[in-house]
Amino acid sequence: MGKLVGLDLPYNYVPSNPANYGGVRAVSNIKYIVVHYTANDGDTDTGNGSYFGRTKVGAGAHMFVDEDSCTQSILFNRVAYHCETAGMKFKCDCRNYNSIGVEMCSDKVNGKYVITRQTMLNTVKVVKYLMREYNVPAERVIRHYDVCGKLCPEPWVRVPSEWTEFKRLITEAEKKEDEEMVETINITVNGKEIKADAIVKDGRTFLSLRALENAGFAVGYYANTKRRTLGNIFKELPVVVGEKKEFVNAINIEGRNYVGIRDMAEMLGVGVEYDRATDTVTLKK
Ligand SMILES: [Zn+2]
Repeated sequence: MGKLVGLDLPYNYVPSNPANYGGVRAVSNIKYIVVHYTANDGDTDTGNGSYFGRTKVGAGAHMFVDEDSCTQSILFNRVAYHCETAGMKFKCDCRNYNSIGVEMCSDKVNGKYVITRQTMLNTVKVVKYLMREYNVPAERVIRHYDVCGKLCPEPWVRVPSEWTEFKRLITEAEKKEDEEMVETINITVNGKEIKADAIVKDGRTFLSLRALENAGFAVGYYANTKRRTLGNIFKELPVVVGEKKEFVNAINIEGRNYVGIRDMAEMLGVGVEYDRATDTVTLKK
């Protein structure tokens, strides 16, 4: 059993038989994560891995998850045949080419399929990892059922509260991670030093709008403007400084806005320097 950096679950890669998957794709095509169940009784991720490795099935999934580990069968830059069920009508724009398929191993208890709590919690870990890695928000984590009406994962269609619970766990995790990103940094404006909440994401610094106001800038923003959202990340936020109104890159967490410091500096017509070593941002005329 190996390890995947950023995934807190034993991980294995057992390549699928090439007959079970399609062509290469750009991972930037990945928009959805689709959850399935295997409809088996007491199967394992490793068992599925070796089965799909040696058998030509003409279908498959990227990942299999059970109670103690996960197995990758198809690389994420390959199209897996997992959610386009023949003869069924699509309910959204999720397809094989723009999604990752995750199969949960299942059990049968009193003639009914179940996903055990441990397998569900491990699936939360795997899905959270994939959400982070491929920038997929919780709202685009869906069931095979939501793609085309297939009763899959059957226990999560029959008992909708189990699906709701899973969504709550991946959404909660997403929020918590964002909160953890908020840190306090020093900003110097016209020689005056203040402490400000900020987020450093993808090598870019986002400052809380309130901090800029505290630093003496009159900043207004259009809270009611329709905005495009990606999870709880705003792609753009209209900001007014003096007479200027422009769209800047921003992040919204728990109702607070964090704006891209470079965008803001450009708007304010000031220079910006950020010293990562001392966590100090300097705005200069
Ligand atoms: Zn399915």
